[in-house]
Amino acid sequence: MTAATGETALVWFENDLRLHDHAPLDAACRAATSVIPLYVLPPTTEDGLGFPRRGPFRDAFLLQSLRALDAALQTQGQRLWVVAGLPEQVIPEICRTHGVHRVYAHHEHAWEERHTRQRLQTTLAGDGVATAWFWGNSLYTPDDLPWAEDDLPDVFSSFRKRCEKQVTVAAPLAVPTLPPAPAAAPDFATATAALIGSTATYAGQKVLVTAAGGIEPADPRAVNPFCGGEAAGKQRLDDYFWESDRLKTYKYTRNGLLGEYSSKFSPWLALGCLSPRWIVAEVNRYERERAKNVSTYWMLFELMWRDYFRHIFRKHDRAYFLAGGIEGRAPACRRDRALFQRWCAGTTGVPFIDANMLELARTGFMSNRGRQVVASFLVRDLKLPWTWGARYFESLLIDYDVYSNWGNWAYVAGVGNDPRRDRYFHPIKQAQRYDGKAAYIHTWLPQLAHLNAADSMQPENAAKVPEPYDNPLKRFEPLG
Ligand SMILES: Cc1cc2nc3c(=O)[nH]c(=O)nc-3n(C[C@H](O)[C@H](O)[C@H](O)COP(=O)(O)OP(=O)(O)OC[C@H]3O[C@@H](n4cnc5c(N)ncnc54)[C@H](O)[C@@H]3O)c2cc1C
Repeated sequence: MTAATGETALVWFENDLRLHDHAPLDAACRAATSVIPLYVLPPTTEDGLGFPRRGPFRDAFLLQSLRALDAALQTQGQRLWVVAGLPEQVIPEICRTHGVHRVYAHHEHAWEERHTRQRLQTTLAGDGVATAWFWGNSLYTPDDLPWAEDDLPDVFSSFRKRCEKQVTVAAPLAVPTLPPAPAAAPDFATATAALIGSTATYAGQKVLVTAAGGIEPADPRAVNPFCGGEAAGKQRLDDYFWESDRLKTYKYTRNGLLGEYSSKFSPWLALGCLSPRWIVAEVNRYERERAKNVSTYWMLFELMWRDYFRHIFRKHDRAYFLAGGIEGRAPACRRDRALFQRWCAGTTGVPFIDANMLELARTGFMSNRGRQVVASFLVRDLKLPWTWGARYFESLLIDYDVYSNWGNWAYVAGVGNDPRRDRYFHPIKQAQRYDGKAAYIHTWLPQLAHLNAADSMQPENAAKVPEPYDNPLKRFEPLG
C-alpha cells in the first residue's frame, strides 16, 4: 500500500460514477491526504440532425447518478464537486486554485475523449500537475490481453475464445476511505441545475427532465424505471440475479421485448454506476451458491461483447465514426431526411419497426433484438446513412455508450466487426419469431390491437389504420 504523501489529489469522475472498483479513486485515497472528487458537466451540443447529442433521458439518469454519488460521498464527510464547462479548461483551473499535485482518472479512448485528454494533459503538464490514468470500466485491461493494440482480432469470437482460455477477470476493488477535500465543494444544486428542464422532441412528443430528476411525460410502458446511481444499480442486480432468480434462464429470455427478458444493466454500466468486474464477481457467486449453466455463461459472454468493442476501438479509432467504418467503404445510401424522420418517428408503416422506434422515443430504451432489427431496416431497406441512425440512438439511449453504440451500428451496417457483411433482419419474419402473439406491437401500436397477430405484422394492414398511424410507407419491399 502506497503511503499518503501530503499531496492534494483531484479525482475526475466521468463514466465511472461509483465508489466501488474505482482504480483512480482507490489510488488517490492511498496516496493523498486531501482529495477533490470532481465531475465536469459538459454542455450538450446539437448533432447535426436536429437532436441534442445528450438528450433528456440520459440527462435525467445522469442527474440521478450524480445525486447518488454525492449522497454516497456524504456518508464519508465529502461532497461531489460538480462544475459546468469543458474538462480541459475546468480541471486546470481547479488545480491552480487548490494547489492540486496530481489528477487521477480513468482513461477513455474513443476519438473525442482521447483528444480531450490530450489537451488536458498538455495544460496540466505545463502547470506542473502530474496525471495518473487508469484503464477501467471493463473486464480486461490492455495489459491483461495477449495482443498488442494493432494485432487485436477483428472478429469477436477469436477475441473471446483466447480471453476465455488465457485471461482472468480481476476481482473488483473495495470502496476506499476518502480523505477530506481542501475546501468546500461548489453548491451541488446550483451546479447540476443545467440538467433540469433539459428537453427534446422525439416522435412528435416533447420530453423534459423534472426538478425531481424524473422524465415528463413518464411512459408507464417502460421496461424499467431506470433510476440512476450506484445503489440503484446494485439493487437492480440484486433483483435480477438474487430476488427473481432470472439469471438462471437469461439465455432463453434475452431476445424478448417486453418486461424482464434481460438484465437492463446497460444504463448503469454506461455511466459506470456498476463496474462490469463487480457483475462478474456476482455471476461467479451465483454459480457457486445457486446454479452454473448456459445462462450464467451467457451473461459473461455478453459482457465480453461490451469489452470487445472497448478494446477494438483502440485499434481502429476514428474509423467507427466514419461512413466507411473499418472497411473504409461506405454502403450506398440516399440522404433522404424525410424518410429518416419517419424511421425516427415510428411511422414507416412496418409495425414491428414502428413499435420499436416508439418505445425508444417514449422511454429512451429498446431491446437488443429491436436495436438489431431497426438498424438493419434503416441500412438495408431504407438505404439511409447508418451514421444517422447511430446519432439518433446517441441522443436517445439512456444506456448510450460510445463504443457499444458506434461499434454495433458499424457491425449491423456491414462496415464493422461482422465477418458476414450482408447480415439482414427481415422485419416481418423477426416479428413472427420474436413477437408471435403481437403483444409487443399491440403495446406500442394499440391502434392495431383489433387485428389478429399475423395481420398486425403486415404493412398493408397498418396502411388501413386511421390517425395517428395513417401514413405508412406503402411500398415496403423486403429484401430477403
Ligand atoms: C444498433 C445497436 C446499438 C447499440 N447501442 C448500445 C449502447 O449505446 N449502449 C449499450 O450499452 N449497448 C448498446 N447496444 C448493445 C445492446 O443492445 C445493449 O447492451 C442491451 O440491449 C442492453 O440491455 P441489457 O442490459 O438488458 O442487456 P443484457 O442482455 O442483459 O446483457 C448484459 C450486458 O451485456 C452487454 N451487452 C449485451 N449485448 C451487447 C452488445 N451487442 N454489444 C455490447 N454490449 C452488449 C451490455 O453491457 C448489457 O448490459 C447496441 C446494440 C445495437 C444492435
